[in-house]
Amino acid sequence: MINRILTIAAIGLFSATAFAESCQVEIVADDAMTFNKTEIVIGAECTEVELTLRHAGTLPISTMGHAWVLTRTSDFRAVANAGIMARVDNNFVPPGDARVIASTRLVGGGESTSVTFSTSQLEAGGDYTFYCPFPGHNAVMRGKLKFG
Ligand code: ZN
Repeated sequence: MINRILTIAAIGLFSATAFAESCQVEIVADDAMTFNKTEIVIGAECTEVELTLRHAGTLPISTMGHAWVLTRTSDFRAVANAGIMARVDNNFVPPGDARVIASTRLVGGGESTSVTFSTSQLEAGGDYTFYCPFPGHNAVMRGKLKFG
């Protein structure tokens, strides 16, 4: 009986991993207020994305903090403005806002952080923008994300 349960569990695990492809993306930010990518392409085979943000600079969060936020391009401006009102305690991201598809915490120089999100929230061919929510940064720290 225990053997049978274990076998079923093993099959369940195998089929879940066979269809779930976790795709990894790294984006690097620096003290010059830039991301090293202006476009991120996520293949249609990815069911989830593990995005890592690495701050390659040395300045602290208070002066050169960076984070990574993903929204629909049509929501980007409104969410970015709401994020400034949400202040640093919320990583400049409006808490509980359904327009935020994914976001990381703020990091300072030498730090990394990551976020994993499901691509079930993305439409193939949809128009998505990622940006840094630190006040003043999204004028240059932003890009497009393409799925599928
Ligand atoms: Zn930034």
